[in-house]
Amino acid sequence: KFLLGFYSSVHRQVRECLKKDVGQMKLQDPNFRPGLVVLQVGDRDDSNLYISMKLKAAAEIGINATHMRLPKTATEEEVLHSITEVNENSSFHGLIVQLPLDSIHKIDTEKVTNAVAPEKDVDGLTSINAGKLSRGDLGDCFIPCTPNGCMELIRQTGVSVAGKRAVVIGRSKIVGAPMHDLLLWNHATVTTCHSKTVDLPGEVGKADILVVGIGKAEMVKGDWIKKGAVVIDCGINHIPDKSKASGKRVVGDVHYASAKEQAGFITPVPGGVGPMTVAMLMANTVLSAKRFLDSHKSGNWNIS
Ligand code: NAP
Repeated sequence: KFLLGFYSSVHRQVRECLKKDVGQMKLQDPNFRPGLVVLQVGDRDDSNLYISMKLKAAAEIGINATHMRLPKTATEEEVLHSITEVNENSSFHGLIVQLPLDSIHKIDTEKVTNAVAPEKDVDGLTSINAGKLSRGDLGDCFIPCTPNGCMELIRQTGVSVAGKRAVVIGRSKIVGAPMHDLLLWNHATVTTCHSKTVDLPGEVGKADILVVGIGKAEMVKGDWIKKGAVVIDCGINHIPDKSKASGKRVVGDVHYASAKEQAGFITPVPGGVGPMTVAMLMANTVLSAKRFLDSHKSGNWNIS
């Protein structure tokens, strides 16, 4: 049911499959490797940690990942210049800009995100990819990694999404909004809640499938949840804990202890959505590399 081992095995399975895919590509062309750039501005501790996890996963799978670092003094123009360089370099198939940008200058995040070439946008954050997803063109876009990972976890439960009532809490560009779109185009009836939602517990109580991305520690309580629901918790929150050497621990947006009594399936934090997000970034990079290889097979001349 809601076993930690079950969730940790899903991201391992995804990574094993990707490793095989990369092996196949090497058989086709021994010199070919999928290439990913992680562009970081500044030196935030949390970003450093997330990037190190991405680089480690990439190395394991056989993706050639490059960590491109710009200092805190980088200007918007310099960031855009670096993005253009990667866009034009055919040995890189994926480019992600680690957010938030940590610069002493004012940088327009939306402009920076949208400067990434849509065909290398493996985070799925450009307006082009978000627009395709919102219209249901799922096969023709990159789906943002966290919602894509949540969808994979839902699939692994064996619970079918079509016709179910799904509730998403949060409407951010990176979690809530694309999660809404994905559930909708997988044929759920979707309600998206946010900070102005009047009766959050009432909305949550209707959900057969609940995906939570709020950023508030243990906010969703067990007694809000419908018996047997699938509960996916994206939250990563640090709360004080004197029993830990670090003085803190990580919890989700769902109060796990009470929610697990009600849920049919529930993801733990840490260990549920987080590792799947990294696995899905790798999946998008491998997909992008495959698309590149297919479009550059002999006979497919790109003359423009
Ligand atoms: P965000 O941009 O701050 O968005 C939070 C959303 O929650 C907003 O839509 C906000 O509503 C809504 N919200 C805030 N307070 C609420 C309340 N009291 N009732 C109902 N809705 C409320 O955060 P995010 O980037 O989406 O991240 C959400 C969580 O997921 C965070 O804990 C983050 O650390 C985690 N996360 C995890 C991963 C992963 O890899 N596992 C990746 C990304 C994010 P409004 O729109 O009305 O403000």
